[in-house]
Amino acid sequence: MIELSNLEKRFGDNVVLKDINVAMSEGSVTALVGPSGGGKSTLLRCINLLEIPTSGTVRIGDEALSFRPGVKVATRDIQRLRRQTGMVFQNFQLFPHCTAIGNVMEGLVTVLKWPADKARARALSLLEKVGMAHKADAWPATLSGGQQQRVAIARALAPSPRVLLCDEPTSALDPELAQEVVDVLGQLAVEGTTMVMATHDLRLASKVAREVVFLEAGVVVEKGPVDTVFRNPQHQRTKRFIATLR
Ligand code: ATP
Ligand code: MG
Repeated sequence: MIELSNLEKRFGDNVVLKDINVAMSEGSVTALVGPSGGGKSTLLRCINLLEIPTSGTVRIGDEALSFRPGVKVATRDIQRLRRQTGMVFQNFQLFPHCTAIGNVMEGLVTVLKWPADKARARALSLLEKVGMAHKADAWPATLSGGQQQRVAIARALAPSPRVLLCDEPTSALDPELAQEVVDVLGQLAVEGTTMVMATHDLRLASKVAREVVFLEAGVVVEKGPVDTVFRNPQHQRTKRFIATLR
C-alpha cells in the first residue's frame, strides 16, 4: 500500500532522512517512534509531499513518484499522490471561521467540487463516526482539544484517502482527552483504516498500532510488530528509548 524506497531528505547539508526503506500494507497501522529531531514528522511530510524528498521513491497504492536532486516534479503529480493521504496535526488546525461540519465539508466542496448537500451528508456521517455529530454546528473555539482533534480526524477522512497520517495526534491533550482520540483512532484501526502515526504516546502506539518503526537521527534503527519491538527490542538504542517511555 505504502512503499518508501531509498528515501533521503536533506535540508541544506543536514541529512534528516537516510536511505529509508519501509513498506506498510493495506489496513496496517504503523507508529513512528524515536527521539525528538529523529525525523518522524519529516518522514510523514515526505509521504504526503508537504516536503519534497531529495531522492528516492514514494508509492501509495498505484501512484508512485521518484525524486532526484535538482529534478523538479510536476505539481499535478504531487497533488495526485497527496490526494491519497489525509493528515492530522498535533494542534488540530481547524479552520476557525468554519463550524465543525463546515470544517469537514470544506475540502469536499472547494477542492472536489461536491454539491453542498452531498458534502453535508458525508460530513455528518463522519462526525457520527468520531462521536461529534451533536456538535456539528459548534465553532472550533467552543470545543475541547479532544473534540477539535476528533473533528480534524473526520475532516482528514472526508475525501476517503487511502492512508491517514497523524503527527503527534494526542500530544497537545491531557490524558483524558487524549483517550478520546486514542479510542477514535483505535476504532478506525479496527475498521481497517491504513494509518501512519508519529507519536511519543506509548498508550496510542501500543493500543492502536500493530507495527513500529523506530527512527533515530534519520535512520530506521528497528522495525517490526509492536509486541516484539516494545516487549523485546533487539537494538540497545531501542531498548533504552522504550525504557524512557514507560
Ligand atoms: P519531534 O519528536 O520533536 O517532533 P521529529 O522526529 O518529528 O521530532 P523532525 O521534525 O522530522 O523530527 O526533524 C528532523 C530534523 O529535520 C531536525 O534536525 C530538524 O531540525 C530538521 N528539520 C525539520 N524541518 C526542517 C525544515 N523545514 N528546515 C530545516 N530543517 C528542518
Ligand atoms: Mg515531529
